[in-house]
Amino acid sequence: MEKESAMPKNTWVGDNLTDVKIKNRSLVLQLLKKRGPLSRIELARITGLTQPTITNIINDLLASNLVREIGPSETRTGRKPILLSVNDQAFYIIAITFTRQGFSIALTDLGPNILFRRDSRYSLLEDTDTALLELQKEFIHVLEYATQSLSLILGIGVSAPGPVDTETCTILAHSTFLLHRSLDLRKYLREYDLPIFMMSNADAACLHETWCGSAKEVQNMVYFMVGEDVGAGVLIDGKIYQGKHRKAGEVGHTSINIFGPRCVCGNYGCLELYCSTQKIVEKAREIGWFGGEPYFRSFLERGEQLTFRHIVEGAQKDNEACVQLLTQLGRYIGVGVVNLINLYDPELVVIGGEASLAREFIDRPIRQVLEERLLYREYITPQLLYSRWGEDVTLLGAASLVLDHFMAGELGRF
Ligand SMILES: [Zn+2]
Repeated sequence: MEKESAMPKNTWVGDNLTDVKIKNRSLVLQLLKKRGPLSRIELARITGLTQPTITNIINDLLASNLVREIGPSETRTGRKPILLSVNDQAFYIIAITFTRQGFSIALTDLGPNILFRRDSRYSLLEDTDTALLELQKEFIHVLEYATQSLSLILGIGVSAPGPVDTETCTILAHSTFLLHRSLDLRKYLREYDLPIFMMSNADAACLHETWCGSAKEVQNMVYFMVGEDVGAGVLIDGKIYQGKHRKAGEVGHTSINIFGPRCVCGNYGCLELYCSTQKIVEKAREIGWFGGEPYFRSFLERGEQLTFRHIVEGAQKDNEACVQLLTQLGRYIGVGVVNLINLYDPELVVIGGEASLAREFIDRPIRQVLEERLLYREYITPQLLYSRWGEDVTLLGAASLVLDHFMAGELGRF
């Protein structure tokens, strides 16, 4: 049974001097990561810490190779202050992401930039045991690549389609992804003695936007992930909102049509049934078979797998059926975005996942739905952006998850 405590965590916990030291280092590092390069004077001005305090912190961070001086500022006349930035090569991260088709594993720096990666077509869904064996093999390949720097690996970040238990690093058995048994990933990676962190794909992608993307300075945002699965990562007051049972953000399984078809989750007419990229591909196949649309039909006749990418390429060549399908997709995504804005009133909505490949075709219909249906449309002009990381966002998100714990000073490395 889950432990209940009367008070939320940390409500009554004070800060001793060591905590303050780590907190201030963490603050300076985060600032350099998000706004850097910056000079010591700028750091003091922004943080409100005294210049001697900043000098001490920077001396420590320089000594531990976490920060480096990158040369004089070019913007001022007179004595030019030296600019500082985070040394992305100070530590490394192992990132793992699972999809329905397989998994990817990578070594990244603190960028996070992918330095080495392995992609596998073994899927947890189809053959869990083989996929886990492959994961262990590929993990060793990554360690071999990193062999000179093993002691500099901070930890392992994992992202997976939900539901996941972030506390126990378990992908939970559920009809939406892993059908029959829950998977405690620590069991398969424990011999390496590295801290492991896990998040759902949408939450990890959302976190990545806050470290490297368009949401570095944003406190409230929604990352709407539209791919084979549909879900959202929600940032509230600078923190990913996970909910009591860490299962929030399942916007893909909100019903938008109570008379609609039954979803695997048990609900009827879920948003995911209308706007997952998989559904769009299925519709295209149907049109190919029954409507005889020549572009779609040609794939079926050649026995070639029709993908979402093909539909985007067709639309780029002015194929009317492709354009129509993507316009329809945009309208359904618009419905999801309206629901999310009505619920959370975010500063920013970022659309990511495979659907963002079709940006040029879905943007207009999404904005039209917002203009027609958003409750406070006279008061709110939502900022709508598209993730620029493509399909790598969940892998980078898994790395950002470790980066996030590191930057908070939780890994004992500064
Ligand atoms: Zn559902």
